[in-house]
Amino acid sequence: MRTEWRPRIAFTVAAVISAGAVAAGVGLGLLADPGTDREPGNPAASAPSAATSESVPVTPDFTASPPAGSVQALDALLLRRAQAITAGDLDAFLADLDQGQDDLVAEQRMLFANLAELPVGSAEFARRDYRAPAAAGSEGRALVEARIRLDGVDPAPTVARYRWDIAIEDGRLVITDIGVNETGAENPYAPTPWDSAPLTAVRTPHALVVVTTESEDRAGDLADAVESAYQRSRDLWPADVPDRFAVFGTSRRAIFEAWYGTGGGALGTGTAGQAVPVATCCATERRTLGDITSTHVIVDLDEVGSGIELERLLAHELTHAVAQPRTVLGNRLPRWAEEGFAEFVGVQLRRSYGAGSRWPEVVRDYVRRGGFTGTLPADADFYGSDAEANYGLSVQFFEFLAQRYGPSKVSEFYFGLAAMPDPDLDVAIQADFKISENRLLADWADWVRES
Ligand SMILES: [Zn+2]
Repeated sequence: MRTEWRPRIAFTVAAVISAGAVAAGVGLGLLADPGTDREPGNPAASAPSAATSESVPVTPDFTASPPAGSVQALDALLLRRAQAITAGDLDAFLADLDQGQDDLVAEQRMLFANLAELPVGSAEFARRDYRAPAAAGSEGRALVEARIRLDGVDPAPTVARYRWDIAIEDGRLVITDIGVNETGAENPYAPTPWDSAPLTAVRTPHALVVVTTESEDRAGDLADAVESAYQRSRDLWPADVPDRFAVFGTSRRAIFEAWYGTGGGALGTGTAGQAVPVATCCATERRTLGDITSTHVIVDLDEVGSGIELERLLAHELTHAVAQPRTVLGNRLPRWAEEGFAEFVGVQLRRSYGAGSRWPEVVRDYVRRGGFTGTLPADADFYGSDAEANYGLSVQFFEFLAQRYGPSKVSEFYFGLAAMPDPDLDVAIQADFKISENRLLADWADWVRES
């Protein structure tokens, strides 16, 4: 079922152009030859740069070395680093780092090795903001967006945003530090799995499965579980779902919680997996969430066992990954629907092995304690202190529907609701079940109290 992943790096010239160059309308042909004679440290080469010319050039002259304090110097550096990934040239990738920063050099060496392990289809660094160092000895700072597209799993490059500290040494720019960008309101989507820890990648027919190397012995388990979860859940998804998913696993909690900048305190202590919508650059359509995000699944391998439990978790997260790109942008799908249906798919997986579900007991207990009000859980505090009961009630709503109308009708209902620009539960229920929302919910509430 598994094959070792063989990186297939097929870069295009366009893929490594920096955003600045694209904005300036630079002809692609100019970049065909990255050139080795543009050594930025060579002061002779920088003297007759375009910046000193009287006439305004139609296109920037990439063969000249711009002054170290200029924006063009940073853009040239960004392009060199992207091209170093393209070329598989470690020395070039490390050349613009301050070689005295041992930790920085080691981290970037690891990043380069990880990118070689992954099926990187394109790599690009784009300048989002820049305060250039004024002179030698002063510090500059750039906000840089790394744009990496993993072949077969990312419809567009995913972004991760970093703060680069930059200085001028011997007349050229050097990077003195790279960290997660924590300024501004935007999620940095960093660190990514590929700049967190050394990785091992495995490919299955329907997934790119990647683990941190200390969990290498779990890679086979995880890959088999992803494939099984895909096969066993497939009938509950629409016909045209993606046929390849990205799944990242680690046994290190701190790394799991840091990935894509989503964790920290936000993930509950028991959270074992998450389907993370990672923003993409260069969106064009903007009609569904899938136009502006890729979904990557992350798993804490220490928080979940192997076998059926791991498969159930993956069925749940892969269902999120299937649903998320189909969701209309701005569609506020209730959490009970998202979590309830994802877990319903997980329960069906357990059932396919003859295993039961713990959710009926969770709900019975909640009813006994007097918590049940006869309604579906509200979005506010869904993941709060009553999270378990909220998940239970949500799953049991879909279980009730499946008993009454069959599992495939349940799937149709859920994906129909997700595709509504402004989800209207009553309209969706009337369309699929020929009954009013109030009547159906009352029947469900009775069923919950009696079961
Ligand atoms: Zn979920």
